Amino acid sequence: LSPVPSDIEISRGQTPKAVDVLAKEIGLLADEIEIYGKSKAKVQLSLLERLKDQTDGKYVLVAGITPTPLGEGKSTVTIGLVQALTAHLNVNSFACLRQPSQGPTFGVKGGAAGGGYAQVIPMEEFNLHLTGDIHAITAANNLLAAAIDTRILHESTQTDKALYNRLVPLVNGVREFSEIQLSRLKKLGIHKTDPSTLTEEEVRKFARLNIDPSTITWQRVLDTNDRFLRKITIGQGSTEKGYSRQAQFDIAVASEIMAVLALTDSLTDMKERLGRMVVASDKDGQPVTAEDLGVTGALTVLMKDAIKPNLMQTLEGTPVFVHAGPFANIAHGNSSVLADKIALKLVGEEGFVVTEAGFGADIGMEKFFNIKCRASGLVPNVVVLVATVRALKMHGGGPSVTAGVPLKKEYTEEVKRSNGSVQSNIQLVADGCCNLQKQIQIAQLFGVPVVVALNVFKTDTRAEIDLVCELAKRAGAFDAVPCYHWSAGGKGSVDLARAVREAANKRSRFQFLYDVQLPIVEKIRVIAQTVYGAKDIELSPEAQSKIDRYTQQGFGNLPICMAKTHLSLSHEPDKKGVPRDFTLPISDVRASIGAGFIYPLVGTMSTMPGLPTRPCFYDIDLDTETEQVKGLF
Ligand code: ADP
Repeated sequence: LSPVPSDIEISRGQTPKAVDVLAKEIGLLADEIEIYGKSKAKVQLSLLERLKDQTDGKYVLVAGITPTPLGEGKSTVTIGLVQALTAHLNVNSFACLRQPSQGPTFGVKGGAAGGGYAQVIPMEEFNLHLTGDIHAITAANNLLAAAIDTRILHESTQTDKALYNRLVPLVNGVREFSEIQLSRLKKLGIHKTDPSTLTEEEVRKFARLNIDPSTITWQRVLDTNDRFLRKITIGQGSTEKGYSRQAQFDIAVASEIMAVLALTDSLTDMKERLGRMVVASDKDGQPVTAEDLGVTGALTVLMKDAIKPNLMQTLEGTPVFVHAGPFANIAHGNSSVLADKIALKLVGEEGFVVTEAGFGADIGMEKFFNIKCRASGLVPNVVVLVATVRALKMHGGGPSVTAGVPLKKEYTEEVKRSNGSVQSNIQLVADGCCNLQKQIQIAQLFGVPVVVALNVFKTDTRAEIDLVCELAKRAGAFDAVPCYHWSAGGKGSVDLARAVREAANKRSRFQFLYDVQLPIVEKIRVIAQTVYGAKDIELSPEAQSKIDRYTQQGFGNLPICMAKTHLSLSHEPDKKGVPRDFTLPISDVRASIGAGFIYPLVGTMSTMPGLPTRPCFYDIDLDTETEQVKGLF
């Protein structure tokens, strides 16, 4: 339709096929799915075993240029591309998307189901609770947080013997260690299974974790943009006997447990990763893990359903997995390894799996390659780099773009620049293409062919579209094509699908950017200089001491997950285009040992977003007669 209706109207205008019908179409057996409602299902991991001899399909990553705060359409391109491949070129394909966080859905950016005629449906189910995975992550994360502070409190008020007696109670006159306690004894070098044989010294060692509260890095989480939780004081009730400390909440999707979910490849591996998560150091400087707190089993129980990818469909009835991973700025921001692995089997050798890395290629894609591909062992065939004329104009010196504020006319009309010269806005596009060129070069560092997808808006002119495609090809892209999926669905992206299919026939010379054995500082420096274009890095004393601690604890050989603004290649959101001559400040470093990465925080990066003056929730409502959701986009 023209004009294109709202995202929610389009979503509602299409009746999704029943999810069991979809599952059957893509080759799933009836007992391999667990249906949630009418249009969502979880799929069993046993599929991987059944399909283990099937050759994988082609693996495509959708990444982007440095975006405006509005988003440049990566999800939309991902969905348009699979719609084009499956429904118009008759090639099996699967989209693997990230589950949106409630933060942006009710905050600034809205949902993440794509948009226009390239969407996952029903979009309100996609954007709201889905099948509860983020709730499970929140529950698991906060159980662990509660376990840490409660343990410190109990250790501070009880004698060794009393603690021990409570940890290993007498049941029918017998004391027995649980499995998790036996594993802790082993870690302590105490090879005994009979509690009655422990010496006093062994009882003390076993009972006391001796957590140093100043080293606690495990935070509580919530999936709401609530800036007032960025710094809090916990333990103010009189029952906590003066054990009080400063703490903070992070957004739930940036939790290490979310990263574990995204990077794991089986239930056993997930359990091991959850147990390995380091939450603090003890008073001797040794790491304290979730396993030490005895909570691994409980965390695994809370996460046992979340590990199964969620099956949904596009507007054109093609399959989609939605599983894990938003927030590429403060997390690694990629959907799950398991969803990709299952989808690669399901599409077959000639098929395509298209997945998306958050924000610009400098962050989402860099982490996709260096963290996710390292964890999965999968080798991508093509990078699709999404660009828009509006973001390029912004990089070329156009006025700032703010969510919720109408775009200035430089973005919507062919007008002269304010200085009165005859230069048209096309010069802004030409100048802004430096960002596109830089992001193409970043993708090329990894040796994978790049296809630029220009996501066309109705205000873009022919001259602007031609210029971007021309400059992208000159910068080394394998191809560059305008896409019209937002207004035309899959048929608007058939040219992109053809270009991707052709690029996938090229040999990918995929390589990682750095060797994980390099020291932590060197790895951060390689990313800062080669990817962001920084002169160098500058470590705060806090960051340096954490790096020293993690290295000394034996965690120096992990990949790096930078927490950096997505609005610039540098650490300063207002530096557009290709910033030069900057030194990247590393303010703090955390370690996500279960997920398997070191997590430096760049500049003033916050791990809990806030709400704007006019958040999206102003427009969100429920028609109580029809139970229809309104105002989601
Ligand atoms: P990203 O994944 O890069 O954050 P999205 O695909 O979520 O971006 O798109 C951001 C918003 O822009 C969505 O609301 C979407 O409907 C809208 N959008 C995307 N492409 C177009 C287009 N070509 N024309 C108009 N609106 C678009």
